[in-house]
Amino acid sequence: MPFENIKDIYKRMAHAAMRSGREPQDVRLIAVTKEVGPDLIHQAVHIGLREFGESRVQAAKEKIPEVRSLDPRASIVWHLIGHLQTNKAKAAVELFDIIHSVDSLDLAGSLNRHAETAGKVQRILLQVKLSIEESKYGITKENISSVLREVSVMQHLHLEGLMTIPPFFDDPEKARPYFRELRDIRDKAVSQGHELKELSMGMSNDFDVAVEEGATMVRIGTAIFGERRR
Ligand SMILES: *Cc1c(COP(=O)(O)O)cnc(C)c1O
Repeated sequence: MPFENIKDIYKRMAHAAMRSGREPQDVRLIAVTKEVGPDLIHQAVHIGLREFGESRVQAAKEKIPEVRSLDPRASIVWHLIGHLQTNKAKAAVELFDIIHSVDSLDLAGSLNRHAETAGKVQRILLQVKLSIEESKYGITKENISSVLREVSVMQHLHLEGLMTIPPFFDDPEKARPYFRELRDIRDKAVSQGHELKELSMGMSNDFDVAVEEGATMVRIGTAIFGERRR
């Protein structure tokens, strides 16, 4: 049965939020639909999910309009969580409410220009790369404060927080130092005057730990939909 895990996921998120001294509603579930077709997304909308994450612009170009036609009245928030090439920035601005994967100043500049043309303020997060083993993409710790400074004056971007993808570990405790480090970087930036509320971190195998360390958005695919469901 689809979605049999969803109550358990919400419960685990809520408990981890309380362990971190926060309320359950302070953490949002982004259902990652990159392996999932429109019909199953439609069912997810039916059970109340409203925030979805896609990793590729090309796939989203078809899927987002299809879901919209299946659920014309649901106000769905679409998150881009995968690497974005500059040549797809225009389409990304047209399709996505929040882009988590802004990993260079060039890309931010391009998004800013396309958002201006589209008459939109694009909500973004900066993707931070905390170690060499991590995903190829992301702004390094050394560069983060200069990128923050430049991006925060781009008028058509609204910078809301930081995102990271730690290396995969079987033992989620091993991801904890990465989550903690992202939170520390965020807290430091806040103390320097940046308004960064969001921490996008935690996936199916480690979201409890990510929420304990301050995640405000968890990106969960397989724990909701199973392996490669259509
Ligand atoms: C696929 C993906 C996820 C979800 O991963 P699961 O292990 O299926 O929960 C989260 N974030 C990003 C960036 C992804 O590409």
